[in-house]
Amino acid sequence: MHIFAIANQKGGVGKTTTAVNLAAALAANGQRTLLVDLDPQGNATMGAGVDKRSLARSVYHVLLELATLADARATSPSGKFDVLPANRDLAGAEVEMVDLDRRDMRLKAALAAHSGEYDFVLIDCPPSLSMLTLNGLCAAHGVIIPMQCEYYALEGLSDLVNTIKKVHANLNRDLKIIGLLRVMFDPRSTLSRQVSDQLEQHFGDKVFKTLVPRNVRLAEAPSYGVPGVLFDKNAKGAQAYLAFAVEMVQRVKEWEKL
Ligand code: ADP
Ligand code: MG
Repeated sequence: MHIFAIANQKGGVGKTTTAVNLAAALAANGQRTLLVDLDPQGNATMGAGVDKRSLARSVYHVLLELATLADARATSPSGKFDVLPANRDLAGAEVEMVDLDRRDMRLKAALAAHSGEYDFVLIDCPPSLSMLTLNGLCAAHGVIIPMQCEYYALEGLSDLVNTIKKVHANLNRDLKIIGLLRVMFDPRSTLSRQVSDQLEQHFGDKVFKTLVPRNVRLAEAPSYGVPGVLFDKNAKGAQAYLAFAVEMVQRVKEWEKL
């Protein structure tokens, strides 16, 4: 079971779009996949087609040990992957967890009970470096960082990298940065291409080969509760996420050989 957190403390950089579409693309590839929504906004939940307003149990209950993962998970109706959903309840978890022990390890513990059931677990983190994100980073083997190729893209990246280093040093020796994923890429923009080249120069093979273009079909899909890769699988954005899933499966196979 490979557990990846999709993190970037900036909002609107494509974390949720990446989490939902990678989950659906991995599932389409035959991978047993669980998508964990760690954002109280519940966008990954809705994007996967699970109604966040009618949840009896959610990731909130799992983190507070009020329910097991088996009781709280749902299945994406179109996507053939499982979802540990979230909604506004999760906003209170941070405060309610303050007095609990090992509060940063709650998600890790919940996933450990299901280690044989999934090939991939993807964790959609909220736009902050909070206790929720920390739960994601403590549970994960690696971090996927979606980045927009814009002028301010690198700003804030060092905060995230430092947080990942601290978690690695103190809490989770397994954690590493798997890669930076360039998203909402506009090949016609000089700036987009410059920032993209800069990322490759700085981060080398930590930059995924797949480039996700800006594509309106990816943005339309969530309002139908269907992942973009299934909503219009011939659209350029969908094709990119399908290729990204193949790239991820390939990378994972290479590690397993080591
Ligand atoms: P985050 O989870 O980091 O806040 P989202 O995945 O919700 O970011 O994306 C922010 C907005 O950008 C959403 O409206 C989403 O539909 C849109 N978006 C994300 N990726 C793309 C893309 N490749 N092309 C067009 N729109 C995109
Ligand atoms: Mg999001």
